[in-house]
Amino acid sequence: MGTTTKYVFVTGGVSSSLGKGIIAASLAKLLQAQGYRTTIQKLDPYINVDPGTLNPYEHGECYVTDDGAETDLDLGHYERFLNVPTSQANNVTTGRIYQSVIEKERRGEFLGKTVQVIPHITDEIKYRVQLLGKSGDYDIVITEIGGTVGDIESLPYIEAVRQLKWELGEHNVIVVHLTLIPYLSAAGELKTKPTQHSVKTLMESGVQADVLVCRTEHHLSDGIKVKLARFCNVQKEAVIESIDASTIYDVPNLMLEEGLDKVVLEHLDLPFSKPDLTQWNEFLTRHRNPQSEVNIGLIGKYVELQDSYKSILESFIHAGAVNEVKVNVEFIHSEYLNSDNIKLKLSHLDGVLVAPGFGERGIEGKIDAVRYVRENNIPFLGICLGMQMAVIEYSRNVLGFKGANSTEMDEHTAHPVINLMEEQKSITDKGGTMRLGAWTCKLEEDSIVGEVYDNLQIKERHRHRFEYNNDYRDRLESAGMKATGINPETGLVEIIEIPSHPWFVGVQYHPEYKSTVANPHPIFVAFVKATYSYSKSKNNVSMA
Ligand code: GLN
Repeated sequence: MGTTTKYVFVTGGVSSSLGKGIIAASLAKLLQAQGYRTTIQKLDPYINVDPGTLNPYEHGECYVTDDGAETDLDLGHYERFLNVPTSQANNVTTGRIYQSVIEKERRGEFLGKTVQVIPHITDEIKYRVQLLGKSGDYDIVITEIGGTVGDIESLPYIEAVRQLKWELGEHNVIVVHLTLIPYLSAAGELKTKPTQHSVKTLMESGVQADVLVCRTEHHLSDGIKVKLARFCNVQKEAVIESIDASTIYDVPNLMLEEGLDKVVLEHLDLPFSKPDLTQWNEFLTRHRNPQSEVNIGLIGKYVELQDSYKSILESFIHAGAVNEVKVNVEFIHSEYLNSDNIKLKLSHLDGVLVAPGFGERGIEGKIDAVRYVRENNIPFLGICLGMQMAVIEYSRNVLGFKGANSTEMDEHTAHPVINLMEEQKSITDKGGTMRLGAWTCKLEEDSIVGEVYDNLQIKERHRHRFEYNNDYRDRLESAGMKATGINPETGLVEIIEIPSHPWFVGVQYHPEYKSTVANPHPIFVAFVKATYSYSKSKNNVSMA
């Protein structure tokens, strides 16, 4: 490969939520599958320094990288598609840009100059865009610009793109514009005008789109492609149809058929070869041809917005494909669960996942759910808060510690089985102060996790403040809840299991952040397998 890194910018027009992240990830997949070292970066035009302090209802799940960055959920797609870890450098917000410019100003680095959006903010954006490129690790950096062209807050980003196009040269930068072609059913027509306007808005900022990726519910005729090309100053081959797909995992193949990778590589003066998607397509075949299905309840309090649990849902898709089963996820709102309706809501399920979360709302429902699945031998996976709920439930109902709780929910509980670590107690800032990123964990050989991972020393990603309280470990273990994963540096308990139960695992970390198409997460694979065995045994009993 050449020594110069090439840059692809993905902008969006007409509407938000068109799926820029999936298009960026699909293009990256096609380039990676031709041997190009590719990474993706997301620039978010909001003023939060990172999405860590955002309520999941705002932008969906907060995705965590190995280096402990709290990032946009699109980074999850990048990792799931590429199977390459991302880092803090892959997600930059306006808040972070301003924070570093202001810190430089305070240090006197601007030598008395007036600090302005242009050039200081735009220079910082350009610097951040090129950080990954200059590392020498990548041939191509794809930068997705959040928001919609024409928004006030996107302007500095578009200006930075304009400058980089000039500075780096025509064949080193390409701008892909994702747009919407609406269908007017009364007229029976696809409409190109919103796209023409969006391209024009981009041009007002001095940026010509080189490729149009057109989201549409109906195929684009040749005539429409010619029209778009003519009025938007692009080649006809650079008008790419992006038709609604039944799964996001179909999009790389759809983009390949439309030639998106070819157009991009031609523009960047790089050779095109047929991408090797063998492994990807094997996954798709298994995903499309399940031999049976299982029903898994996902118990959480952000269930109205499925993006809040994006990585969990995708992990089920990966694990379902490995097991050749379709995983039907049933969302269950923990706030409306109680001991009276629990049987009605859970008894038909083949497995239950109690989700991560923060704060008191809905936790009693989660505890009732854990009790029900524990007593009825239904496979259980508790993630982060879900694991903490399992410890609380066991303490209350097996050890008999009535008010046992996490100090997050009840500061004065008589039995703080989950509590704050000493070093967290003095922290008052909320942003970026949790236990974040990858931590080592040693697994007990004779346990479910000891069997499912192929190594007894693992690294998994965390995002929480509260911890299993080791003062209760002896009592919990003697009563049957074992600690099967321990952090070797701190002695903190990271995994609990109940060996007398067929499949009961709680993990303090987030396995869902590390599940990819190429590497489905072993915990999810094993959990789905356990739910399948459970569903089979249930059917055998009912047939007997
Ligand atoms: N609220 C819990 C804590 O901070 C769990 C966090 C989570 O589920 N990610 O420890």
